[in-house]
Amino acid sequence: MPRPKTITVTSPLLPNLKDFEKYLEDIWNRKWLTNNGHYHKELEDALAKYLDVQYLSLFTNGTLPLITALQAMQINGEVITTPYSFVATTHSIWWNNLKPVFVDVEEETGNINPEKIEAAIKPNTTAIMPVHVYGNPCNTKRIQEIAEIYGLKVIYDAAHAFGVTVNGKSILQNGDMSTLSFHATKVYNTIEGGALVCSDKTTKERIDYLKNFGFADEVTVVAPGINSKMDEIRSAYGLLNLKQVDEAIAKRKHVAELYRSALKDIPGIRFFSDIKGVRHNYSYFPIFITENEYGMTRDALYAKLKEKNILTRRYFYPLISNFPVYRDLESSKPENLPIATKLAEQVLCLPIYADLIDNEVERVLEIIKKRV
Ligand SMILES: *Cc1c(COP(=O)(O)O)cnc(C)c1O
Repeated sequence: MPRPKTITVTSPLLPNLKDFEKYLEDIWNRKWLTNNGHYHKELEDALAKYLDVQYLSLFTNGTLPLITALQAMQINGEVITTPYSFVATTHSIWWNNLKPVFVDVEEETGNINPEKIEAAIKPNTTAIMPVHVYGNPCNTKRIQEIAEIYGLKVIYDAAHAFGVTVNGKSILQNGDMSTLSFHATKVYNTIEGGALVCSDKTTKERIDYLKNFGFADEVTVVAPGINSKMDEIRSAYGLLNLKQVDEAIAKRKHVAELYRSALKDIPGIRFFSDIKGVRHNYSYFPIFITENEYGMTRDALYAKLKEKNILTRRYFYPLISNFPVYRDLESSKPENLPIATKLAEQVLCLPIYADLIDNEVERVLEIIKKRV
C-alpha cells in the first residue's frame, strides 16, 4: 500500500502565479528594485489600512523590527519578556546588548502573566517585550497599567497576531510599538518579511532611517542604522497575498472548528477556544496533552503522527530560557517558570493552513483519537 501523502504542519499562502507575473513585468519595466519603491509604498499603505494602524514600516523579516524597535527607543538595562516564544524574541534583546528577564506565562493563553511582571522589575528595567503567542491577545490593559506606573516602554512581538482585533480594535494599537513577521510559515507572508508598527510620525521617520543605514538624505546619517529594507518583488507578492488573506483565515477557522469538535471529547487534551470579542487568525492549533489522562506522552504522540507521515511541531519547546546562551540567567530557573515549563512539555501544534482539506484533518484526528 502506498504511504499516504505527507501532511506538513503549515503550508505557505501563495499568490496566483499569473497575477504575480504581471507585477514582475511591471517591476522589470520600472527597473527600480528596492529603496522605498512603488510597490513598497503601496504595500505599506495597504497594510496600515488593512491592519488599522497609523504608521507601519516594512522590513525584510520579522526579527529586524524587534531589534530596531529597541534601538529606536534607545532601550537600555533589562527587558522583561516571555520564555514561551520563538527564539527571535529574546535574541533581539541580546543583540542590543540588553539583559532579558524571563517572567512566567498564563496557563489559559500562553502569554506573559502580568501579575508576575512587577516582581521582576528592577531599577534598571526599561521595557517589557510580551508576545501575543498563537495570536492570543495579551492582557494589554494590565500590562499598560504596570508600564505606566514604572515608566517602562512596551514592545509587542505580534508575529503571530496578523489581523487580530479585540472588540473591533487592532491588537497592534497597544504598547509603544508592535512588530509583525511575514515569514512564509505565517498566516500572511511575503516569503520573508516583517513590519514595525508605531503611532506617531516622528517615530516612523526614525524607524525608516534606522532600517536604511541611518540615512536621512544622501549625505546625512543620523544614527547607526542597519539594512532591513523590503524589496519590490516581495512587496508586490505581499500585495497579492493581502487580497486573499481573509479567505485564508476563514479556511483556517474551518480547520480549527473541525479539530475542536472532535477533540472536545478526548480526555487529557486541552485546546484554546475563541475569546468573546476577539477576531482570531487561527495561525496555530496548539493542543496540550496531560499524559496520565490521555494515556500517552506528548512526544509519543508526536512520534506516532510522524510515523504516519503527519508532521506536527512542538511550539514552543524547548523554552527560550533553556537554550545555552540564556540558561544561566537567574530568571531562567525552572522554579521561576513553572507554567511555561509545563506548557512546553505538553504542547503539540497540529497542521493548520488554508489548503488543508477535511479528510487530511480526519487523518490527523484518527490517530489522536486512538490514544495508543
Ligand atoms: C516568526 C517569529 C519571529 C521572527 O520572524 P522572522 O520573520 O522569521 O524573522 C519573531 N517572533 C515570533 C514570536 C515569531 O513566531
